[in-house]
Amino acid sequence: MIFEIDGVIKEKAELQDGIFYLSVEAPSIAYLAGPGQFVLVRVSPSFDPFLRRPLSIAGTKDDRIKLLFSIVGRGTSLLSRMREGDVLSLRGPLGKSFPPSRGRSSSCWWRDGSRSASFRPSGLRREVGFGG
Ligand SMILES: Cc1cc2nc3c(=O)[nH]c(=O)nc-3n(C[C@H](O)[C@H](O)[C@H](O)COP(=O)(O)OP(=O)(O)OC[C@H]3O[C@@H](n4cnc5c(N)ncnc54)[C@H](O)[C@@H]3O)c2cc1C
Repeated sequence: MIFEIDGVIKEKAELQDGIFYLSVEAPSIAYLAGPGQFVLVRVSPSFDPFLRRPLSIAGTKDDRIKLLFSIVGRGTSLLSRMREGDVLSLRGPLGKSFPPSRGRSSSCWWRDGSRSASFRPSGLRREVGFGG
């Protein structure tokens, strides 16, 4: 099942220069999402930019999903300026999930070509992760 909902940004942090963490209250997506899945995010309340941006679900906890993103262009730049309490339109969870594995080898952070964060970076294990 795929939902389109208004999530509420509950936590925001700039982890490193240009790399952001968001914890978003999005119960229906959080309860269904698994590793490897992503959401389509509307990065502004208007339709400019028109297209939603895909971001991997870096983890879930209770009724929240965790997002990690780096600023690439206008969309991610707009997203980086959103604040705690702002509403974020989300569509998801999308993509095919797979069972979480244990240990460091489960961490994956690839950049070239996609800049995707499909899983938790190993240095952020305590902050992000499914159910953690
Ligand atoms: C399934 C999926 C999951 C993703 N998950 C994450 C995630 O968890 N965290 C994250 O940071 N990013 C993730 N991405 C990448 C993210 O969606 C893009 O970085 C974002 O859409 C860029 O939007 P923008 O408006 O900021 O940049 P745009 O204005 O669309 O692009 C600005 C410039 O950057 C180039 N560009 C755009 N996207 C990329 C890219 N991915 N790699 C290299 N150059 C690019 C464009 O060609 C353009 O020149 C994911 C992508 C996919 C397909």
